[in-house]
Order: sequence, then C-alpha cells, then structure tokens
Amino acid sequence: MSEILKVRNLKKYYPVSSGTLHAVDDVSFDLNYGETLGIVGESGCGKSTLGKTVLRLINPTSGEINFEGKDITVIDNREFTALRPQMQMIFQDPMSSLNPRMSVSQQIAEPLRIYKVFKNSADLEKRVLELMDTVGLARRYVETYPHELDGGRRQRIGVARALALNPKLIVCDEPVSALDVLIQAQILNLLQDLQKERGLSYMFITHNLSVVKHISNKICVMYLGQVIEQCETKELFNKTLHPYTQALLSAIPVPSLKNRRERIILKGELTSPINPKDNCRFAPRCLYAREECFSSCPKLQDIGGNHQVACHFVKEINKL
Ligand code: SF4
Repeated sequence: MSEILKVRNLKKYYPVSSGTLHAVDDVSFDLNYGETLGIVGESGCGKSTLGKTVLRLINPTSGEINFEGKDITVIDNREFTALRPQMQMIFQDPMSSLNPRMSVSQQIAEPLRIYKVFKNSADLEKRVLELMDTVGLARRYVETYPHELDGGRRQRIGVARALALNPKLIVCDEPVSALDVLIQAQILNLLQDLQKERGLSYMFITHNLSVVKHISNKICVMYLGQVIEQCETKELFNKTLHPYTQALLSAIPVPSLKNRRERIILKGELTSPINPKDNCRFAPRCLYAREECFSSCPKLQDIGGNHQVACHFVKEINKL
C-alpha cells in the first residue's frame, strides 16, 4: 500500500441563517507515504477546513477519510483516540496556537503527558530536550514563554509539539505565512529534513504557490470548496490547464525579464458558497465562460498523466 491517506467525496457543510454553506464540497485525493501534498487556493476556499476535517478536528458531513486503509469517519472515539498520535497538525499562527501561560518545556511536554508516554518526569524532561534539539531550538529557551520568543522560534515549538508523539501524517496549515522570508526558509528546510529522516507525510496548506512548488510532490488547487485541478507539482507548473490556476500562476513574480508572463487579472464577482447552484463556481470570473458553464458543474476529469482538471472546455482552451 503506497497511500497513507485516501480521501473520497469529502464534504463539510455548515447550516447558516440563509441556507447551507458548502465549505468543502466533494473533495477526493490521495497522499503517498513520505510525500507532500500541497493544497492551494485563495483564502476562504476551504483549504483549512479541509485540513481540520481530514484530522477529524471537525466532523465531516459525509465522505471517507482512509488513514492507512481505515476509514476514520466510522470508527468509534476509543479507536480514534488511539490513532490520534499518528495524525498531527502544525498551525498557522504559533502565537495563538500556543498557551501564553505555559513555558516551552510545558508546551512540548503537553501531548506526552496527555498520552501518558512516560512514567517518570526525568524521562519526560529528557524527551522534551531531545525534541528541542530536533527542531533546532536552543536548550536555553526551555523555561521561556512564547511572548519572549520570535515567530520562528515559536513555530519551532509548534513543530516539536507535532513531532512529540511520533506521527506519520502532519497537516501543516499555512505554517510559514506569518513569518518573514528568511525564517520561512528555515522552517521549510526543517520540515523537509524531518520528512527525509522520519519518512513523514505532509498535507501542506498554503495560499503561496512559490512555497508549494518548493515543498510538494503533488498539488491540489481549490476554488470555493472544490478541487479544480490536481497533478504532480512539476506537471502543474509546466502544463497549467485550468483557467483559475493559470491566473494564480500568472501572479507569481518572475525574476527574469525573458520568462516574464502576462498577468491575468480576474474580474467578476465571487460565487457565494451558500446554496451554490449546479454550475462552474469559477464561471463569473472566467475569461472563457460560456452558457454551459452557468448550467452544469464540471467534474474532475483525467486529461492524461494523472492530471485532473474540472473544466468543460479544458481541451479547447489549451488546444489539447
Ligand atoms: Fe471557465 Fe467554463 Fe471551464 Fe469553468 S467550465 S473554468 S467557466 S471554461
């Protein structure tokens, strides 16, 4: 079995006063052992909700989440609690995800205490110091508090907490977007080194395509709760097929004048995710939209080479 995670037709809907908000709508993907799947899209597209739903931090409305061949949406709480150490999360803003009243050692020790991993405090302290070494956090910070540290060091605490129980899968929810560029690179390198050493699998959620290009094996592009394009990272950047992904990529700054591409400016209104109609959700902003786009929702279809795109006219637009 090469997939650690197989998600099928996952939906997360919320009842709101004016109807039903479709935050995650019929999403399917696979993640292989030791690989990174990038989830990209604008803010509000449902990518963070998807990450939390995959870890069952919020319960799905329907669909399957198969972790190592077991559908975790149907197992009971006892079984899920036993599985939880293997699936962890690194959050976007370490300042709000850490407890301001707990020292570095207390924060890192917390998951180990909850799961009663060690019988005596000497072993627990030793493990905390080992984890600090692993994430490159100097031991002199062991009794400091989050507000005394910079963003990079705070995020290293988040990484150490996520690693404490030796997980196999980590959902990284915008783990570097609150950091400055130099620190971003340090944390990304740390995550890649840890992946190599421990064979970790990452679901890496971000709005930044440059980051996802650097770290991912495969990419899913999301638009208003749906996956509209997914394939290998190299393929996505060499052969971008969906009009929305083309617009996203055109916004990435290119240093060389020779390779500069024209920026595609999206106009038109965003479709509401509340009670969406059965149409292409990108249609009001799409340069190629036609009548059919406003009357039926395109399904993800394989264009070849495991490259999937949800667009009625993908072949015509890209002259395939
Ligand atoms: Fe554009 Fe139509 Fe394709 Fe949607 S289905 S992306 S509106 S061409």
